[in-house]
Amino acid sequence: MSIPVRIVLVGTTHPGNIGAAARAMRTMGLDRLTLVAPRTFPSEEATARAAGADEVLAGARVCERLDEALADCRFVIGTSARLRALSWSTFTPREAAPRLLAESAQGEVAVVFGRESSGLSNDELASCHALLHVPTDESFSSLNLAMAVQIVAYELRLALLAGVAPEPPPERVDPLATVDDLERFYAHLERTLVDAGFLNPANPRHLMMRLRRLFSRALPEEKEVRILRGILSALAPVRAAADGDETREAGTR
Ligand code: SAH
Repeated sequence: MSIPVRIVLVGTTHPGNIGAAARAMRTMGLDRLTLVAPRTFPSEEATARAAGADEVLAGARVCERLDEALADCRFVIGTSARLRALSWSTFTPREAAPRLLAESAQGEVAVVFGRESSGLSNDELASCHALLHVPTDESFSSLNLAMAVQIVAYELRLALLAGVAPEPPPERVDPLATVDDLERFYAHLERTLVDAGFLNPANPRHLMMRLRRLFSRALPEEKEVRILRGILSALAPVRAAADGDETREAGTR
């Protein structure tokens, strides 16, 4: 049985790293690989470095943008070689693995890895619910991309072998919202806040980032996001009607 966790590699520059990541996944029983705007793929070098894990490469999905790669995911962890200034919830691989397995019982889950040169942007991390950092020597924290994949994949395997029950947290009523639901909600919220004069469209980033952190920390469920969008529509009926917004009645559905 394969471990149902999607590995997403963003903007990989060296095809050898894609092959080595596929091998790392295959050894631990993972086979869901998504590549976002890889510089070169497919490539002979990737195939050579996959060392026989060809079916992982052959089954890889290639997307242009990270939001496409994550649209249907309900729980996403971004990885970073650095601990970020804006403090998202941060897990070690050992803490993240059982959580990912548990969430995989209710929907697609993903772990996102960044570019060799610059990692993931803050905007890309903003699509994630939490961060994963492999604790390293503080003075040299940057692992090779495929080695970071190997460590996460190994911890997932250990969690599987330890018999982590793939059950969502007991307080959960409905499945978590998907990344796509959340992105639509954030866009709706931003429009509404701009219209209300609360958010300066010339400088929306800081506030929206804070709000994203707030909501991703809460792990909103699908129905909760529908209610929130219904509230936004009810508070700004003119704009909603002008947009032909279909979520106006969502709260009452
Ligand atoms: N210079 C980049 C390093 C990127 S390393 C930076 O400072 O962000 C390429 C990718 O490998 C990272 O984006 C991350 O996905 C993964 N990675 C490397 N070291 C890691 C670590 N210590 N913890 C978690 N992920 C790591």
